Amino acid sequence: MDASSRSTRLARMGRPASGWANTPIVKGSTYLFESIDQWRDTRARREKERVLSYGARGNETVYALEDAVAELEGGHRSKLFPTGLAAIAATFLACLKAGDHVLISEGVYQPVRRLCADQLVRYGISHSYFDPRQTDMKQALKPETRMVYTESPGSLLYDMLDLPAMAEICRPRGITLCADNTWGSGFVYHPLALGCDISIMAATKYLGGHSDVMMGTVTAAESHFEAIENVSINLGQTVSAEDAFLVLRGLRTLGLRMKRHAESALEVATWLAGQSAIRTVYHPALQTDPNHALWRRDARGSNGLLTVEFQPALAPQAVEDAIGRLRHFGIGSSWGGFESLLLPVDAARTRLSHEGGPRGYLLRLHVGLEDVEDIRKDLGRMLDGLPAVSQQQAIAE
Ligand SMILES: *Cc1c(COP(=O)(O)O)cnc(C)c1O
Repeated sequence: MDASSRSTRLARMGRPASGWANTPIVKGSTYLFESIDQWRDTRARREKERVLSYGARGNETVYALEDAVAELEGGHRSKLFPTGLAAIAATFLACLKAGDHVLISEGVYQPVRRLCADQLVRYGISHSYFDPRQTDMKQALKPETRMVYTESPGSLLYDMLDLPAMAEICRPRGITLCADNTWGSGFVYHPLALGCDISIMAATKYLGGHSDVMMGTVTAAESHFEAIENVSINLGQTVSAEDAFLVLRGLRTLGLRMKRHAESALEVATWLAGQSAIRTVYHPALQTDPNHALWRRDARGSNGLLTVEFQPALAPQAVEDAIGRLRHFGIGSSWGGFESLLLPVDAARTRLSHEGGPRGYLLRLHVGLEDVEDIRKDLGRMLDGLPAVSQQQAIAE
């Protein structure tokens, strides 16, 4: 697929074959049948195929988005969940049972750690973490490992994983390889094509794209879809038609938005990397980023996310005072919407603190669709508010 065919597909996916340009919002719990026979026949068929039968099993609007997401991710089929985290939790419950172990890469979205520690352990499912930069994954596997759960690039520092190499280890052992693809959002990264069995996205981020909807998606290879569909039914997971409509609407401009976010973020990242107050800029599209080679090999673009590490000589309070000078960046959770956002990163809590890792104040930026010159000037205002860091101080650190 070249860039134009990706965009062309975005304009077509999940649309009716005729009539309305967009699939209408269908509201409904009860679906009526012509006869008991038809009802009975539908109940039997819905175990094997997607047929309208009851609101919780989906409707035309939900199906349209399921189809669009499956096409975007290059998977067999997709299921929708009320949040990205719900999609992750459902995937664990679909693929793991008491006695199983899940191996998780460092750098996953932080609430996953809490989900594993608070919930999975209570069901007798064990977990452990591995740092792909320091450990050979094979060594971290246990006889009872049934799933490897990853996020590539990882949250906060965007460390890329070699998914094809991981798939080669998992496949012969029958271990499910699962990736959180929120960073790539199905447009610039494709875990299923790289060998994963399951790809999860928080559609809350770039797919929705407008900071006005929450949703999660799970897309599976044919071998894993039945388990995902069953967990969705058994846990009563569904999404509203309005929300599905909003995500479908967001999808239409996904390509345009991602391109603009990526161009602006790279410009901002390049500029920030040359500023004396900044020690490191984490953004895989930067040539100096240690993940750049893998990013070039496996990704087809980047996005608006970057994380900066300030010089360790700068006190956190001084950095936070300077952040107060920003006018165009909101302070808040999530990212992937139209607007610029920032949040401090707690490195200890996310276990990013390893040897050679960041030591200064970490700030995650989401570069929005505003004019990039305004964003750069805004960040300049923040840097101007910091005490000067001498060359010696920077080197001594
Ligand atoms: C935001 C996010 C999620 C969770 O999505 P919600 O819709 O907020 O639950 C999962 N994974 C990653 C990488 C995220 O950034």
